[in-house]
Amino acid sequence: MPMHNRKKKWYQGVQDQGHLFGVWNTQAQNGIQFYPEADQFKISGSKTFCSGVGIVDRALITGNIDYTDRKGWQMAIVDMSGISEQNIDKNSWKPLGMQASGSYTVDFSGYLLDESDLISRPGIYLNQPYFSGGAIRFAAVHLGGAEAIAENTIEYLLSLNRTEDPIQRLRLSNIMMQLVSGRLWLEKAGQHYDEWADDKTHEQDLIAFANMTRVTIEDICLRIMDESNKCIGARGLMAPYDMERIFRDLTFYLRQPAPDATRLNVADFFIKKQQTGHESNI
Ligand SMILES: Cc1cc2nc3c(=O)[nH]c(=O)nc-3n(C[C@H](O)[C@H](O)[C@H](O)COP(=O)(O)OP(=O)(O)OC[C@H]3O[C@@H](n4cnc5c(N)ncnc54)[C@H](O)[C@@H]3O)c2cc1C
Repeated sequence: MPMHNRKKKWYQGVQDQGHLFGVWNTQAQNGIQFYPEADQFKISGSKTFCSGVGIVDRALITGNIDYTDRKGWQMAIVDMSGISEQNIDKNSWKPLGMQASGSYTVDFSGYLLDESDLISRPGIYLNQPYFSGGAIRFAAVHLGGAEAIAENTIEYLLSLNRTEDPIQRLRLSNIMMQLVSGRLWLEKAGQHYDEWADDKTHEQDLIAFANMTRVTIEDICLRIMDESNKCIGARGLMAPYDMERIFRDLTFYLRQPAPDATRLNVADFFIKKQQTGHESNI
């Protein structure tokens, strides 16, 4: 089936039936393989962290394929009505935070795909700068969590008449300066994304800026949690306050893929920039 017809098929499901898609790439040791079987492909293996499973109608999953000219990390769409409840391991989700959500492990073994369910060529999932650039979106969610912590911290101190204390004020100013720095990073990252995402000459700049944004926001969130923790103490970390939940949720959601490698890639960018004399305004 030509690519434009495939797109139409998936778009139509969204438009006409309100289909919800999930993007499930993360896996453990028993990850996904696509094996040819007659004129179809059989899936073997599982995905972990399948956010929204249960309400997701169509899952975009990735896995290894090695068949004629298709070799590498392939995307495919799975109709979730073809996956039995027994293949969804709800016991796999016992997180520190985000307990109200469900990102379970799903075993796709035995599911048969038509060739038209394979999306694009192998390797396209990791296409840059879109792959690394996408991290700006979760960084924005992270900073939203830190913003909730900042607001709750001020609210808490106000409710106890503790905002006149100079040490508390000092911590609040640290929290707010961190938060505003995070907003500036995100605004600039958004501008760069809009200007550079489709401009090949700025591909490396955008990847480096997105990488820096992502890990800087992580550091900012950790610092805000640390300062807030000291502001509110144990009493503030208990019901009826929301802080214990927000702390757990943000602590957990901050753990995103390859944080160390991301920092090393930032160093690589600046070393190469200097070596090659690459013109860049970052
Ligand atoms: C709430 C939530 C929802 C999610 N939803 C989805 C989803 O819908 N779809 C999806 O695809 N994914 C999803 N994920 C997974 C997410 O994208 C990350 O893959 C995952 O959070 C990273 O897990 P980890 O911290 O255990 O990673 P790890 O890779 O285990 O990293 C932990 C630490 O080990 C280091 N490390 C990594 N590899 C090595 C190595 N080889 N040697 C030594 N050190 C190493 C890392 O730098 C890091 O410091 C979700 C995650 C969360 C928290």
